[in-house]
Amino acid sequence: MDKYKSIINDSIENIEKGLIELSQKIHANPELCFEEYKAVGWLMELAETHGFNIENPVGGLETAFKASYKSKKAGPTVAFLAEYDALRGKGHACGHNIIASCAAGAALGLSKVVDEIGGEVILLGTPAEEGGGGKIILIEEGVFNDIDFALMIHPGSQNLIGRGGLAAMQLDIEFAGKAAHSSDPASGINALTALLEVFKGIDTLRNTFEDGTRANGIITAGGEASNIIPDFAAGEFTLRAKTRQDLKEMADQIIKLTGAAEIIIGAKPNVKKSMVYAERYPNLTMGEQFKENMSLWGEDFNYPSPDMKLGSSDIGNVSMELPTIHSYLKIVKPGVSAHTEEFAEASISKRAEEVIIKTSKGLAMTGYDIITDEKLQTEIISEFKENVKGG
Ligand SMILES: [Zn+2]
Repeated sequence: MDKYKSIINDSIENIEKGLIELSQKIHANPELCFEEYKAVGWLMELAETHGFNIENPVGGLETAFKASYKSKKAGPTVAFLAEYDALRGKGHACGHNIIASCAAGAALGLSKVVDEIGGEVILLGTPAEEGGGGKIILIEEGVFNDIDFALMIHPGSQNLIGRGGLAAMQLDIEFAGKAAHSSDPASGINALTALLEVFKGIDTLRNTFEDGTRANGIITAGGEASNIIPDFAAGEFTLRAKTRQDLKEMADQIIKLTGAAEIIIGAKPNVKKSMVYAERYPNLTMGEQFKENMSLWGEDFNYPSPDMKLGSSDIGNVSMELPTIHSYLKIVKPGVSAHTEEFAEASISKRAEEVIIKTSKGLAMTGYDIITDEKLQTEIISEFKENVKGG
């Protein structure tokens, strides 16, 4: 191992206990999106102790923060992204406590050599991945503008590099009608019937949506009593597609359906679009470098099989802005999915602790490789440009 990598290795081993405790504390104190005050407090405190400069709030978000350690020598800016939000009613069933500790460990480890090799290390606290789109807000607020490379990991059921993600968004559709006694439906306007037209329309159009699209809806309001014609109905739809463009086309078609329902039934539609989680372009050059570093600790990585089901995350939006990796570390056996009780338990297991230490080192060493190897930087950047062109 080269001299600097062994400094990184030793410095992460020195803080092993603190990193594991951090993960345990976050796991034991689940906080929902935009309310992650405790987790952010602990992360900032740890970074400050190691000489990082702290900014908080960041991008107008109280539970976002930027901890930076800058060398006097020029060089690229490498950011490790921490997530720390939990799921309503399920605690840390997505293992974001592991993500937070890995990002902190990587940033602290790399900071120990940055004075000599140059560049800047950032530990970026990104709140509200589970639905709030924290990273999308941070992008819009310019927080990623001075970052050159972004690295993070996510726990999962396999060690994977190069796994993509689908574009996703939510549509909230409401209809306002007119109440009437159910013995006289003609004098009312049935808002629920209008909403059901949208559901039927989606099923009718499903074959015309692009390959890989998904549209799933639920009814969140559909009337108060069956002897009254509902004057209000509301539905929530989650849409997914391979690209933002496919997603936009599907959303436009569904919005047209609300107009059709208005013509047929007479109820007035009101549509709210959520922010769009972009598809993901994992940087394979960076992923390969991470894989190579992780092999030092006996961790093997694969690429996902082509038919693997993909989720959606705001890391997709980051991957459209700058070279990004979001690699997966196995903490559960294949078949166990995130957002389950079993996953929450695994997020605090011995294996989770092992992942935190190995991955902190692997990420930090990948950051080191990027800062010190200009040829690698060029390859990463040209792959990035190739991926997002026209995107
Ligand atoms: Zn997650």
